[in-house]
Amino acid sequence: MADIKTKDFSKASAVSILDPQLRRALRQVGTGFDAARRAAIDEVSPKLWDEWREEARRIKIHSLDHLDYYLDLLEQNVTKAGGHVHFAKDAAQANDIMAELVRTRNIKIATKSKSMVSEELSLNPALEAQGVDVYETDLGEYIIQLAEETPFHLVAPALHKTKEQVAQLFTDKLGIPYNDDINALAAAARLALREKFLQADLGISGANFLVAETGTLVIITNEGNGRLSTSAPRIHVGITGMEKVIPSLQDLAVFLRLLPRSATGQRITSYVSMITGPRRADDEDGPEEFHLIIVDNGRSKMLADPDLREALYCIRCGACLNICPVYQKVGGHAYGWVYPGPIGAIVTPSLVGLKEAQDLPQASSLCGACREVCPVNINIPRMLLHLRQKSAESPDPSERSAGLVPNLLAEGYTRVMRSPALLSASHKLGRWQQNVWAAMPFFPFSKKGGMIRKASLPLLSRWTRMRDLPELPKETFRDIWKKDLKEGP
Ligand code: SF4
Repeated sequence: MADIKTKDFSKASAVSILDPQLRRALRQVGTGFDAARRAAIDEVSPKLWDEWREEARRIKIHSLDHLDYYLDLLEQNVTKAGGHVHFAKDAAQANDIMAELVRTRNIKIATKSKSMVSEELSLNPALEAQGVDVYETDLGEYIIQLAEETPFHLVAPALHKTKEQVAQLFTDKLGIPYNDDINALAAAARLALREKFLQADLGISGANFLVAETGTLVIITNEGNGRLSTSAPRIHVGITGMEKVIPSLQDLAVFLRLLPRSATGQRITSYVSMITGPRRADDEDGPEEFHLIIVDNGRSKMLADPDLREALYCIRCGACLNICPVYQKVGGHAYGWVYPGPIGAIVTPSLVGLKEAQDLPQASSLCGACREVCPVNINIPRMLLHLRQKSAESPDPSERSAGLVPNLLAEGYTRVMRSPALLSASHKLGRWQQNVWAAMPFFPFSKKGGMIRKASLPLLSRWTRMRDLPELPKETFRDIWKKDLKEGP
């Protein structure tokens, strides 16, 4: 699997927040993608949009409730169309299947269109170990591959790079003169990649959807690379997660309305490719062989967990990233693996284990914006809370995000809030403590009145170094109640 750096979330996000270039790039996700999404919804009417969302959710619930049936149907129909279906239980098995295919067919060059699952499996290094040169052909992914980085965003992998950085990268890696004109950069990438499309024996793609009733793999893209990768080479291998299966083409129509609008605000993407098996005798072009690798890699575990199963409804539109106040500050790399943002904070711990990613479910203000924008109405905040609870109650200390002190503080807080006498006593103690701090001229924290400005207070520093500690009121609600309100008017 791709290098998992999820344990570094706090450190990496602290670094990202201070990066002015990332700040500028991340401003685009709210003002660009999210504004376009809202305009697209207004165009269809919010009422109709909500009906589509409900329909999409219903399809996903049904598909996953009957996943075994639809996977079976999909396999039958892919086979009937002349393709081959392989099921892989984990990354190692998926990469072995691919290795066997490239070995037995003497493949030396492969082109690839965007596939998050292949990132998840670390497919490129596995193929390179077999002596295959793999070329990413989506422009953003190509840039990321040259820069030896991981995607920054689900639908815009190179969002964080300026045109100047890309121009320098192309000069360094492709040996072409520096030119930061965007059209010239796109033309340079096109020129380099066209040659590879012609040389490649293998084209690899992901899938946005798999239609069970017809055995069709569906790719939604704005660049022609998906179509070239899946039709020019003599072998096409589609590789994707098992949750992508939907029952019928009629169901697909709902997602084709929702996905582009949620991702980029487009009514429809430039290309919607539907691939059913290899080329037929009377087809003018297309691959001689078609293979579909359906990957589990932890998804069965999510499916079996009623609290996390909903995360499998995700259609990877990226809308929840664009609206998330945490993603907007820290960007995609801080999440340390393939899937960033609010949905990544659920999928990643579910796939790589809470031990590796215990900080990710904490990376949320629980404002609920992610759920509001999600085209499948996925209740992300509920799952984040579930993972937090799982982490807090885990008997394994390595799965807990908070250390001993925060856990003791949370325990103490619970006791105080449950006892009126303790609440009253702690308020008095708190006011006394604040007055003592405020009276100390040498006290190293910035103070205003009784308020303690952002400061590293002992035991509370993870909270207070970024937030003000407001002055406790002189009179509590309980005091006012006793004094003035209890008797009524
Ligand atoms: S969780 Fe919803 S909003 Fe987020 S990427 Fe998935 S489908 Fe889009």
